[in-house]
Formats: sequence, C-alpha cells, structure tokens
Amino acid sequence: MPTFSEARRTILDHVSTTGIERVSLIDAIGRTLAEDMTAPWNMPPWDNSAMDGFAVRAGDCQAPQTLLKVTGYIPAGAIATSAVEAGCAIRIMTGAPIPPGADAVVPVEETEEDADSVKILEPVKARQHIRFAGEDIKTGDRVLAAGTAITPSAINMLASLGTALLPVFRRVRVAIVSTGDELVELGGQIGKGQIINSNALSLAAAVKEIGGEPVIVGIARDNRESHLHILQQGLQADVLITSAGVSAGDRDLVREILTELGAEQLFWKVDIKPGRPTAFAMKANTPIFSLPGNPVSSMITFEELVKPALLKMMGRKQVIAPLFKATLTEEIRKKPGRLHFLRVALERGKDGYLASSSGNQETGIVKTMIQADGLAMLPPDKALFAAGEQVDVHILNQDFLLEEA
Ligand code: AMP
Ligand code: MG
Repeated sequence: MPTFSEARRTILDHVSTTGIERVSLIDAIGRTLAEDMTAPWNMPPWDNSAMDGFAVRAGDCQAPQTLLKVTGYIPAGAIATSAVEAGCAIRIMTGAPIPPGADAVVPVEETEEDADSVKILEPVKARQHIRFAGEDIKTGDRVLAAGTAITPSAINMLASLGTALLPVFRRVRVAIVSTGDELVELGGQIGKGQIINSNALSLAAAVKEIGGEPVIVGIARDNRESHLHILQQGLQADVLITSAGVSAGDRDLVREILTELGAEQLFWKVDIKPGRPTAFAMKANTPIFSLPGNPVSSMITFEELVKPALLKMMGRKQVIAPLFKATLTEEIRKKPGRLHFLRVALERGKDGYLASSSGNQETGIVKTMIQADGLAMLPPDKALFAAGEQVDVHILNQDFLLEEA
C-alpha cells in the first residue's frame, strides 16, 4: 500500500497537459501560459517623460535659477515636432515623448513659470525623470515563460505588447460518476433509505473552483450493466472521478468494471485516514480517480490527491499546497500506522497559528469539514500529540489568511 506521498507522486508522474487553446486576454486570468511570449517591440516604446514638467538640456541648467525660453508644448499622445535648442525648454506631460535635444525633465514643482519662460530652481542631472525606450522590456525579450500563471500584471504587459489572444493550457474536462443504489439526484423524490447524490455536487464545485470543467455524468447503480454504461461515458472526458464503490464490499464494482474497460490500476488503497480505499488507474492518457463514498473522504482525497493532478494537467508548475506550522491547543490521539488528516479550526496566536480539532472526525460528518480551516497532517507512526506540540497544516480556508474587515 503506497504512503500518501508515494500515491501523490505516482499520480503526478502519470498526468500531463491535454492541449492548448487561444483565449482573449481577460479570459486568461488564472490560466497558465502554454508558450513563451516574446516582445515585438520595446517597452516603453520610446523615451518619454516620467513627470509633468519641462524637457531641457541638463548642461544648460547647472547654475541655480537658470532662466530658459519655453518654445513648445508636448501633451501625452502628441509627438515631438521640434527640438529643444540651447537655452530653451519645452513643456511636457507625463508619458509624452522626449523631444530631440533634451536629455532631462524638470518636474513642474521645481520650476517657476512665466508667460514664455521658465525658471529652473535647482541644478539638473542628465537623464533625470526620463523613462527610456526598452527600459522595461527590449524587442525580442522573453517576457513570460510557458508555465506562468496569468495575473493582472502579466495581462497589463501583454496588452501593452499588442497581444489579443493568449495561448493557454486547456481546462480539463472532468467527468464525475457517483455509484450506489441508495442515491437520488438533487431535486428528485427521496424514498426510504435513499440519500441525495451530494458528492457529485461537491466534487463538481471543487473542479470548477480550480478552473476545470466538471461534467456530472450520473449515478452508476450497483450492477454491472449500469457501471459499464456510466463508466464508459465517464471515460470520454479528460479525467474521470468516481465516488463510492471502492471498498471491499460485495457490490463495490468500480475497480472491476474499470479494469474490464481497459483501465490499468496503479494503486488501490493508500496509507491515509480518511481515504484509504482510494484507487488510481489510467486508461491510455485518461487518469481515473476512484474516491471513497463518504462525503468527507471524497472531499479530502480530492483536495490532497486529485487537485494537484488537475492543476498539473492545466499547466501549473506549482501544484502542491504549502504546509504551515500550527500549535495544537489540545491533546490528540490516533491509532499509529496511517497518516491522518485531522480537520482543524485555526486561530492566530501571538506566536503563530493555533489548531484545534473542529469536532467529530467521522467521515460522514460534513459539518466539521465546513468548520475546518485546514487539515493537520498527523504522521503515521505517532499515536499521541500533546497540547503545545507543532503539527503541519494544509490550510483549506484561504479566507483564514485574510484580516477581518
Ligand atoms: P460505499 O463506498 O459505496 O460503501 O459508500 C460509503 C458511504 O458513502 C455510504 O454511506 C454512502 O451512502 C455514502 N455515499 C456514497 N456515494 C455518495 C454520494 N454520491 N453522495 C453522498 N454520499 C454518498
Ligand atoms: Mg455503494
């Protein structure tokens, strides 16, 4: 049985990106760049003023209180038609091109203007307050490497360089199959002994949250024909996620039918709690995650094992959540042997984060998953964790990292 990190390694080693598409810049936010981008021109494109003020020859302005004749005006968006002659200045606005002859800009605050002359109050350094052509980016520079996550600042740069469509890795289409005779779709009649197929919705939401495209295929009933039919449909997508039907129960058909359909099983059972019955298989290039049916188990195994894989498939380089140290506020006991993901509520202490159990850790208890800000990873061998001990926590609730309003 693989350990948690072995299982995650196996999964990540088997998945890769599924293709490239071109999307408009604004739709590229949060996506991953699929090709290197080079600059077709300099940024800035020409020398321009960093201030509202006067374009001058620095050599003319070495004495304090130099008086210069103002011979023109260049607003932003205009081009410089005449040069700055000796003893002269041209009024210039921020972003406007530096006129020939000038080698410095004097901010308006450091001048005294008259009708057609300007007094420069302080000596001027050559090159001051000029933004030079190519200072940010030079023609032909690689501005962004494939694999970069697109941020608003990347979009700003690419827009300035005239990019309208951006090559990004495709979103993964993720088929979600639920299994079990007890399940009813949301909105359907709930009979005796039946429960709503809630896993399909939480898994679909989790896929959507990271930029994937969930496709809820439906429910495979606990018989061969239904499994064959629904799993075959699920295998049309880039990724297949199933929930339930992977324990050792008689009616747990998922792995058997997947094998019949040509899937190669890479592992079944991982040394973790919850999530032990998780299976991973590949059919050609399609990864198949068979998650346990208990809602919390399916959510935690998605978070810890599926999500990194989907992010990698969408081109991301960084896919594994960071671990933060937190101090336990109470004693925690567990059976030695497996890695436990303990649902914890977090608080900010004066020396860092404090973690306490968010309550009942049974895998059918969804409330304590909602109340968990993170999952503390309790290493396999240990059984007793004393109050005051430090544990590694995978933070689930990103809002926890924000300050209150
Ligand atoms: P199983 O692995 O089929 O034995 O299912 C384990 C537990 O998870 C059972 O209590 C099921 O009722 C529950 N379960 C299975 N599938 C779902 C689902 N799609 N939504 C919510 N609960 C489920
Ligand atoms: Mg079942």
